[in-house]
Amino acid sequence: MSQDPLRDAHGRLISDLRVSVTDRCNFRCQYCMPAEGMPWLDRADVLSFEEIKRLVRLFAALGVTDVRLTGGEPLVRRDFPRLVGMLAAVEGLEDLSLTTNGYLLERDADELVAAGIGRVNVSIDSLQRDRFFQITRRDSLAQVLRGLEALARHPEVHPIKVNAVAMRGFSEEEAIPFADFARSTAFQVRFIEFMPLDADREWASDAVLSGEELRSIVDAVHPLEERPREPHATARVYRFRDGRGEIGFVNPVSDPFCGDCNRIRLTAEGRLRTCLFSHHETDLRDPLRAGASDGELELVVREAVWRKELKHRVNEPGFTPPPRSMSAIGG
Ligand code: SAM
Ligand code: SF4
Repeated sequence: MSQDPLRDAHGRLISDLRVSVTDRCNFRCQYCMPAEGMPWLDRADVLSFEEIKRLVRLFAALGVTDVRLTGGEPLVRRDFPRLVGMLAAVEGLEDLSLTTNGYLLERDADELVAAGIGRVNVSIDSLQRDRFFQITRRDSLAQVLRGLEALARHPEVHPIKVNAVAMRGFSEEEAIPFADFARSTAFQVRFIEFMPLDADREWASDAVLSGEELRSIVDAVHPLEERPREPHATARVYRFRDGRGEIGFVNPVSDPFCGDCNRIRLTAEGRLRTCLFSHHETDLRDPLRAGASDGELELVVREAVWRKELKHRVNEPGFTPPPRSMSAIGG
């Protein structure tokens, strides 16, 4: 296999792969899934651990250094820590991370750490029980916080981030509690703007609470100072001027970072997506199961990556969301 790094037609090098390990989830967050009735993929259609490992090895040989495991909820996939162990051994990977809703972290934290997970993001939209329930449709805040604490007992997992989706009419009230949380714990808090990837298709531009609005709410109480932006970083990160920690804002809608995007995604059934908002995907599972060689798969991957979208068009007239919603893509 050639060792030329993966690049797209706009000159961007691709080094970050998000792998969805399942489309299933034990939560039903309003901005992601419908309250009921999301059909799951048949198990036979979902990539096996061995298939995921084969593809991750291929991507690593093409220059992917960072892999984030996501879903759906990755921890509902049976034996998930075993997959982490398999991927931690892949040559060339520098960073193996996880995004989870945290519900099963109390059960799995030790095993995940032993298997080699490096960094973890836990999604929490409110630190108040009733408001957490309102968004996730599950009364599980205490369980999630216990999971976070179980993970925090492992200093080798660093950083542990807490990600909150920011929605107008809801998250304004969350700004200060999360800022206080960031100031009083070692967790790194990030607000993420609501994107048009909800299954209910209720997203509207005026439902987006921008990172800048949240930043100014926080700044009025706890003055902030922007930190230099790291390459490919999606978050604008600010430190509290009094030195007590930092807080970040990921602003894909109000301040897109497409120009610097180095990401691609693999869905649970083995489709390659070159943008969260892609309308086109490239199937890797069928060629894989039909016995394609690494060289043949490499060609398919290179061609798909070459066509990676220049930018998303969320703010443009005529934008249509992709057919898949967030849990089926792998956020
Ligand atoms: N179930 C895991 C979790 O919630 O962390 C992993 C998958 S979830 C799809 C990944 C991330 O996408 C979560 O942080 C979630 O809050 C975020 N997300 C889901 N739908 C979103 C939307 N419409 N806009 C912005 N972020 C969204
Ligand atoms: Fe499940 Fe994560 Fe989507 Fe919430 S955001 S419904 S936890 S996949």
